[in-house]
Amino acid sequence: MTAQQKRAIYILWILVVPMMFYIALHYFPAASYDYVNLAIYMAILLATLMTSISLDRVSITLERWVIFSLFFQYGIVAEMIFMQIAVFVLLFTMKSSTPKGFRFAFNSINFAVVSIISGVIFHVFGGSLQEMSLSEFLLAGFIYASAYSIINSAIIYLFFKWLKTDTSRMKKIILWDYVTTILLLPFAITFCLLMQQFGSTAFLLIGVPFIIVLLVSSNYMKSNKLNEVLSSSTIIGHQLADSLRVKDVLLTFIDKIKGVIPYDNAYIVDFRMGENLVMLACKEGEFHNDTPTKFSFPQKRGEGDGLDVEATKLFMNKKSVEALIGYSFDTSVESIMTAPIKRNQRTEGFLILTSNQRYAFEEMHVKMVDLLTGYFATAVEKARYYERTVEKSVRCGLTGLYNFRYLESKLDEEVIRYHTGEVSTLSTIILDIDHFKSINDTYGHQSGNDLLCTFAALLRSYQTPEMTLARYGGEEFVMILPNYEKAEAVEFAETIRKAMEESSFKITPDLSEEREPTIVQMTISIGVATMPIDAKDGKELLRNADRALYIGGKQAGRNRVGVYEKEKENIPS
Ligand code: GH3
Ligand code: MG
Ligand code: MG
Repeated sequence: MTAQQKRAIYILWILVVPMMFYIALHYFPAASYDYVNLAIYMAILLATLMTSISLDRVSITLERWVIFSLFFQYGIVAEMIFMQIAVFVLLFTMKSSTPKGFRFAFNSINFAVVSIISGVIFHVFGGSLQEMSLSEFLLAGFIYASAYSIINSAIIYLFFKWLKTDTSRMKKIILWDYVTTILLLPFAITFCLLMQQFGSTAFLLIGVPFIIVLLVSSNYMKSNKLNEVLSSSTIIGHQLADSLRVKDVLLTFIDKIKGVIPYDNAYIVDFRMGENLVMLACKEGEFHNDTPTKFSFPQKRGEGDGLDVEATKLFMNKKSVEALIGYSFDTSVESIMTAPIKRNQRTEGFLILTSNQRYAFEEMHVKMVDLLTGYFATAVEKARYYERTVEKSVRCGLTGLYNFRYLESKLDEEVIRYHTGEVSTLSTIILDIDHFKSINDTYGHQSGNDLLCTFAALLRSYQTPEMTLARYGGEEFVMILPNYEKAEAVEFAETIRKAMEESSFKITPDLSEEREPTIVQMTISIGVATMPIDAKDGKELLRNADRALYIGGKQAGRNRVGVYEKEKENIPS
């Protein structure tokens, strides 16, 4: 709301509320009060206000049954005063993000108007504080209660429209307000009649049982809600367990908790490498970002920074958020929840949820988050293990390069990319160390292995991000070069061949006794083939590069680049 709107409401309050009281006192003077009765009404009203029930996600208090009964017995003035007190008490018992002063002013005006208009309607339709037949009482009471609820809803609706707040949930709230009001009417009438008939002790007959039933059902609803929450967290747990990739687990986690906890922004911050803080995932509004724009945090955790590593904490208004030293949030943030993510009793990270509403999070959300962070930590661990296993299964244990299994599937992918037009050509080169067997024979297999690793490192230094480098087997390596024309691939192969020819490698022979470091030199032969001119598919591409290696490289005298040519295909070896 704007400052102007605020001012308008306060001015309206000064004008309307005293006027309504004046009208009530002047035109509907109160009957004589029984102060014991009034005290009992007040006690029951307060007890009713303390307990709210939740229907269809709409939180409702049932004070109207006391208010109506009071009205039937003592008239508008008593009803108005009690309702104004109820509005005041509700400021503290019902949480809301709207500032209290403004809330009070608006509700005070609202109910002053509702009290007068529905009171007048009651009288117009034959209601009176004197003797009425039961049917007259029921009819006038029904009209009164209906007017009370409808006028109240209409004022709130217009007010929301004026504030330009979302009214999409209003329909449901209006409906529940009407239903509960009408359901409370018989209690109010009975209470009034009993009080008239038997005096103040009649509250034992209906007041006390009402409060007890209210308490029991409120607790029952709470435990129902808790059950709902528990079963939805189990479902989320399963969904997390189904995600095999760490990134998927992270995103599933922050997406799914949105369904059960009303947050605006979510962040998962990890303690890595000691106390360093790293952002793992972030969702601001509807979108996942890699770098948050509404939240920043220190690089390292500091002592007394306000983060609790043991328990989930709620910071429910701007003032309490200041306790999180070093963490800065968007100015719109009003409530924050910080939850430690623990594995094996160690806190490894934090989930941070923010909301632009004050008091957005409840104790139940804390329980939920405690459960979910447990599921989350297990799911992340599993996904990490899975990713490590997958990574291992596609790598060569000696050189760390991709193995043949990976090469095959990557080649298939690249061929698809060629067919879909994502890449224009696809070249492949196979590299084979010349006379490698003799190196093994002379210096031993351990030295041979060391040389393979050094060669792999040399190849890596020529690899660009779009290339794929793999160990084909033995001392043969393959590089897939997307978007390389044949001539470019040949030039690239030539560069590597030359680099190899000009390099010398230091090894410590493991066969001789002295183990003196020795310098060795190696050459390589390379075969080149390119799609589409040399091959139709990945297998053929690889086979033809291999032929080029054999014919143009090895057969032609080694230490050279063989280029695949169709016409040479049938040359006998
Ligand atoms: P060419 O010039 O014709 O390629 O001769 P070459 O000796 O390099 O080729 P050949 O195919 O005859 O021998 C390949 C050798 O590579 C045989 C084997 O000793 C060696 N080799 C294969 N894999 C490994 C490995 O993992 N470690 C070591 N140390 N040697 C390997
Ligand atoms: Mg060889
Ligand atoms: Mg070989």
